[in-house]
Amino acid sequence: MADADLLDYDDVIATYDPVMGMEVHVELSTETKMFCGCANRFGAEPNTLVCPVCLGLPGALPVLNAAAVESAIRIGLALNCDIAPWGRFARKNYFYPDQPKNYQISQYDEPIAVDGYLDVPLEDGTTWRVEIERAHMEEDTGKLTHLGSDTGRIAGATTSLADFNRAGVPLVEIVTRPIEGAGERAPEIARAYVTALRDLLRALGVSDVRMDQGSMRCDSNVSLKLKGATEFGTRTETKNVNSLKSVEVAVRYEMRRQAAVLGSGGTVTQETRHFHEDGHTTGGRSKETAQDYRYFPEPDLEPVAPPAELVEQLRGTIPELPWLSRRRIQEEWGISDEVMRDLVNAGVVELVAATVAQGASSESARAWWGNFLVQKANETEVSVADLAITPTQVAAVVKLVDDGKLSNKLARQVVEGVLAGEGEPEQVMNDRGLVVVRDDSLIQAAIDEALAAQPDIADKIRGGKVQAAGAIVGAVMKATKGQADAARVRELVIAACS
Ligand code: ADP
Ligand code: MG
Ligand code: ZN
Repeated sequence: MADADLLDYDDVIATYDPVMGMEVHVELSTETKMFCGCANRFGAEPNTLVCPVCLGLPGALPVLNAAAVESAIRIGLALNCDIAPWGRFARKNYFYPDQPKNYQISQYDEPIAVDGYLDVPLEDGTTWRVEIERAHMEEDTGKLTHLGSDTGRIAGATTSLADFNRAGVPLVEIVTRPIEGAGERAPEIARAYVTALRDLLRALGVSDVRMDQGSMRCDSNVSLKLKGATEFGTRTETKNVNSLKSVEVAVRYEMRRQAAVLGSGGTVTQETRHFHEDGHTTGGRSKETAQDYRYFPEPDLEPVAPPAELVEQLRGTIPELPWLSRRRIQEEWGISDEVMRDLVNAGVVELVAATVAQGASSESARAWWGNFLVQKANETEVSVADLAITPTQVAAVVKLVDDGKLSNKLARQVVEGVLAGEGEPEQVMNDRGLVVVRDDSLIQAAIDEALAAQPDIADKIRGGKVQAAGAIVGAVMKATKGQADAARVRELVIAACS
């Protein structure tokens, strides 16, 4: 659609009120799939993680994964939902080649969690309450790869490949109630909600929530009504918006497109739409209704009836909301929003906090994780959390520096030793012989040598040009393999020249 077919955003807002609804699918990071013992793992060779159950072979029977149910309950509790004491799975019948059984096991009118809310933090420091209609369990489909078309989509493809590794992976779908009253902030609020949900799910440890890998997927529903009208307009559902930025872009685009349609006397078609990377959406299939799926209770599975004690026990495992703990941590550390944002983006807030809990100052802990270790992680292409060093070990290094046993330079070598698997910091320090030289007479000898080797510089210092001392300090540090205390060397150099 050309830009001419989009109304200016300001004009949309002047005339219409947007209503949104977010449907987020999240793949649970359980060891095994939802109804069979196949490994639940991303990126394996196609069709290596399959069995008769997840391939839908005749006679195979599903067995419910208890760990997936516990994750679903924890998600429901974290979203302030009521947990259903009893509920059945349902068969959602439809044919599609990524779905070997020709039905998906889902929950229909008896979801595990209902009636919750999430208080979403916005950029300006305020909070927006998004009401949660339900969170339900279901299984993922397989994955189709279409070859031969320019777009990678099925239209124009000459070959399609099916990989069933993902078939039967546990999913939780989280559906909001209609989000009303957001006005011009609708796109921002949509993005903030999905961001908050991602951070919450990550803090719960139930999913790796990678939108880029599809372990978290968002469909955004949008409709417009005339300002002040009570009845909702017709909605479109934009599918598989695959980044946080795209959530915002997709909502804004649909608002502008629908306003143009309505403004020219047309009607919005209820349909699913496909999101494109460049930010526009195109029409997909017209939306099927619940009747089309011929839902009925799944006869091969027992109802899910979590005991109240289990629910209460799981309630005890729900962590503080991550943005609230971040705010508290930020205050404790006394750092600016920007510094905090850098730490969040680097993914090191929890690591720094754990290092501080082991006795390090927040300043030193931040410096290690936020600079040196992030850099090491980038060099070796692993995430910082996966580096072969723990917060306890970083805290031990900080202590060695604070105690004057290591200079910063030596400390970096110790950390490198730990990363290389040479053992605990103290052991690396001893094995590598990395100890600060405290003996002034040793340093003095190196200074005398350096002054003799660079007489012109020695003269400059003697003549009062103290800045020139740097060259001598550098030479001494080199001669002592970085084991001298640079500040002490400088003192001694100046003393020697005065
Ligand atoms: P479906 O299965 O058809 O996708 P769901 O009930 O699962 O329907 O999800 C629809 C989502 O859209 C929900 O988040 C709901 O709150 C929201 N929604 C419903 N009606 C409207 C509307 N007119 N405009 C915008 N969003 C809507
Ligand atoms: Mg839906
Ligand atoms: Zn299987």
